[in-house]
Amino acid sequence: GSLMRRFVENRDCECEDHCWRCSVELDLKVSYDDKQNEMAMEGDEQDEEGTNIVVTSADLKSNDDDVRAITFGNKEDEANSQDKGISILKLAAGQEIELKAIAICGIAKEHAKWSPVSACVFRFNPIITMDKDVLDRLSLEQKREIVESDPNKVFHLNEQGGSFGKGEIVVAKPEDCTFCEDVVVKAKEIAGEECISIRPDMNHFIYTVETIGSLAPEQVVKEGLHALKYKMQELTNHTAAIAEDQQLQGQGAAMN
Ligand SMILES: [Zn+2]
Repeated sequence: GSLMRRFVENRDCECEDHCWRCSVELDLKVSYDDKQNEMAMEGDEQDEEGTNIVVTSADLKSNDDDVRAITFGNKEDEANSQDKGISILKLAAGQEIELKAIAICGIAKEHAKWSPVSACVFRFNPIITMDKDVLDRLSLEQKREIVESDPNKVFHLNEQGGSFGKGEIVVAKPEDCTFCEDVVVKAKEIAGEECISIRPDMNHFIYTVETIGSLAPEQVVKEGLHALKYKMQELTNHTAAIAEDQQLQGQGAAMN
């Protein structure tokens, strides 16, 4: 949390281009010969003559202790993978590469490359009301027909229930409700009057957040809420400042 907030978004930063507040520099300097010597010293299996060395994201050296290139979203993936990092290029004997990469802090509103989220959807909880008196008068068969008319199988028929022992319609899986009107229409058709209503509860949202692995979903939600809170506070501060200005101007006019 606090580490991510250490950086300022590049577009909000006071610098001309980029600086330590809004970016991190990563150096990439790999030579085929050095790498071969390194591998020989570490006793790693040496590359056979004529083949290449793969330069990966693991070779990027960050100038900031808090920031590094990430290849895996979690430890498990890292343990299960044969790769050391994300492949960038291959070097043949005698070749070398040297470059400086700049990682800039930004948000997805500006460019999708900054989005840590791959999928984000929300839905409402349904508020389902049933007119028991009307439904009670229907036969077991009629109730079954109503229950079975719902493609999402939100309702269940409790055959032994109901005031007259002719079955009772109960809500079994509200989370599967897609607010289709099939049951409402069918119930009205059979009973001759409206007896089931379904509407969304506008005060409760069920969010599904999936990330690409750079941040955990709960982190994304928490940081999102933090950003929202910050913006609301900024808005409050600015409107208060405007109100104060106007009040001062008003007083000035009164004195004149
Ligand atoms: Zn800057």
